[in-house]
Amino acid sequence: MEIQSVSNPPTSHFVKSYLTNNIDIDKYFDYNIHDSTVFQKRQVDLLVRSFPREALAEHLLSFNQRFQCHENTIENINRLKDPKSVVVIGGQQAGILTGPLYTIHKLISIIKLAQQQEKVLQTPVIPVFWIAGEDHDFAEINHLFTSEKYQIKKKSLPQREVFKRSVSDIEIDKKVCVKWIEDVFETFNETNYTNDILLNLKKKIDNPAINTYVDFFAAIIMELFKEYGIVLVDSGSKELRKIESEYLCKLVRESKNIRDALLFQHHTLQDDGFQKVIDTAEYSANLFFHFDNERVLLEYHPEENKFKGKGNECEFTMEELTEVALTTPEKLSNNVVTRPLMQEFLFPTLAFISGPGEIAYWAELKRVFGLFELKMPPVVPRLNITVLERDIEADMRELDVSLIEALKGTAQLRENWLRTKTENRFEEAVVKTQSEVEVLHSQLRMMALDVDHSLEPLLHKNAKLIQSQFEFLKATINKRVETQHQTELNKFLRIELSLYPNNSPQERIWNLFYYINKYGFSFVNDLMELPFEFNHDHKIIKV
Ligand code: ADP
Repeated sequence: MEIQSVSNPPTSHFVKSYLTNNIDIDKYFDYNIHDSTVFQKRQVDLLVRSFPREALAEHLLSFNQRFQCHENTIENINRLKDPKSVVVIGGQQAGILTGPLYTIHKLISIIKLAQQQEKVLQTPVIPVFWIAGEDHDFAEINHLFTSEKYQIKKKSLPQREVFKRSVSDIEIDKKVCVKWIEDVFETFNETNYTNDILLNLKKKIDNPAINTYVDFFAAIIMELFKEYGIVLVDSGSKELRKIESEYLCKLVRESKNIRDALLFQHHTLQDDGFQKVIDTAEYSANLFFHFDNERVLLEYHPEENKFKGKGNECEFTMEELTEVALTTPEKLSNNVVTRPLMQEFLFPTLAFISGPGEIAYWAELKRVFGLFELKMPPVVPRLNITVLERDIEADMRELDVSLIEALKGTAQLRENWLRTKTENRFEEAVVKTQSEVEVLHSQLRMMALDVDHSLEPLLHKNAKLIQSQFEFLKATINKRVETQHQTELNKFLRIELSLYPNNSPQERIWNLFYYINKYGFSFVNDLMELPFEFNHDHKIIKV
């Protein structure tokens, strides 16, 4: 395995400006990641803050031990009790079989940055992965993509989820899930590793301690990254919610101010010519209430001092909802606005590892953090990674396709390449013949009209039919040329399939298990051996 850096700037205007230090940072963030002392500054700021370290460590120990964690994880959880320790944190939903590759890239980023900063700061820096188990969007995590005969297919678990409840509460239909995994692996080529991987996954599913899709995700991630001491936290966990109780009270009390702070920041963004990302309803309370297996978004109506379900499912006064937060905090959960705040209340965050979408929406939260006299942690973009397999690289070399071209898709290159092969001379000859025949045919038409003027429609139809025969000939020859060059054309397709599937970066479509099936379980460890630098370049991993 080898690593190569290439420059491949993001498409989002805001993210591009952030990465190149071309925005007014102070308006959107509390720390400038381009400042070489950013982590030292953050470390100093964290020293005067207090966190629920003991309670958190106790909870994390029991949660992580459920997934046969390594002693490095246990040690890291214990180190969290040290008031000088800090964390590098990031998170994602619990995608089935770990979801798209970018989740893995986030984990690598979290662990690598933690390792690097522990050396620099000479203080414990713990890698924490936040599983967004409170999220209820099952449709987002219940599938992955496979390729069959160059066609990309979405394979969804055939488990129906009728309720809008947190993924942490959705039990695995174990039989359905095993069958689905077997179907997915059928689409991969069988290798020496296939059997072991299938056995390993089935064993996890059979384990009585693994009940939900969050459990299954956690068990896989823990196994893949255990020796790096990764600490997992599930935001859907009821035990965690007990620790969150006092912070939930604050979020209830400040509901209106949170919304106003968000709206203010939206105006700032728009004044600077950027688009807002967080869509907020006029009365959104930015909290969910868990009600009869459903997760209901609450609204706060200040004129009545009432919190209400969006569809009027429930109603509380401020005092009643504060009481819920105090006594049954598991009935409340965060949304996109309050989740980052909760993370900040709980963890001494040296850095937050973010995807491009998150960078944009965190920028909308600066004033929300300020409301609680908190600074938003340094928002560090995760590593951008593309796996380049040797055979794909060989195809690129043969067809003279550069890396930068391949990362953006080869459909147009394929078209252009084919054009150079179709002997444009034939197309030109067809066009010439068509116009010469038209000249001759128009003379015939004139003569025919002299005989009978009412023949005009018939004559035009006749001309069209004759011309269409040339089109047919052109298409036949083009098809024949395409067939003669099928091997090369398929290589273009393979490059596109591997590096830019479905017109998207590889990391958004493909799943880790394709690579583990091909290269073995050590694939992740080999990745982790590579030297990753946080310099915003795109990392190409040659395998
Ligand atoms: P193969 O080369 O395994 O026979 P295909 O010809 O279907 O597969 O696909 C061409 C290339 O596209 C593969 O070599 C691989 O780089 C990529 N690819 C195909 N399917 C997947 C997948 N499920 N996940 C990741 N990459 C894939």
